[in-house]
Amino acid sequence: MTTSSAPSFCGQCGTQHIADSAFCTNCGTPRPIVAAAPASQPSTAAVAQPIAPDASVPGDASLPPQREYIIALLLSIFLGTLGVDRFYTGHIGLGVGKLLTFGGFGIWALIDIILYATRSVTDVQGRPLI
Ligand SMILES: [Zn+2]
Repeated sequence: MTTSSAPSFCGQCGTQHIADSAFCTNCGTPRPIVAAAPASQPSTAAVAQPIAPDASVPGDASLPPQREYIIALLLSIFLGTLGVDRFYTGHIGLGVGKLLTFGGFGIWALIDIILYATRSVTDVQGRPLI
């Protein structure tokens, strides 16, 4: 600590203290120890909280819009043996499987029609068809 620029005055005689003196130069009264100004105190309040990244919020703009139930059902009825309904709902692997097996020789396609009709199918994001 070097000399303080803030002037202090003697409580007894009012004389301005010389910065480094421990006693009043006029009356000899011991200089009251002024509470150290918290000038160099680290400001903990100013520390900003880290902002959590919102990268992995589900159901946002990166997802395709929800599929329509009636379209999926109609695709399943008319094009189910080609897996088009599964392509529509985003289940590409299932769609390819149905396409290659001709809808599981009709059985898989029929089962899917029932699944769509009973609203048991969600899209590949797990959302119900609208
Ligand atoms: Zn004094």
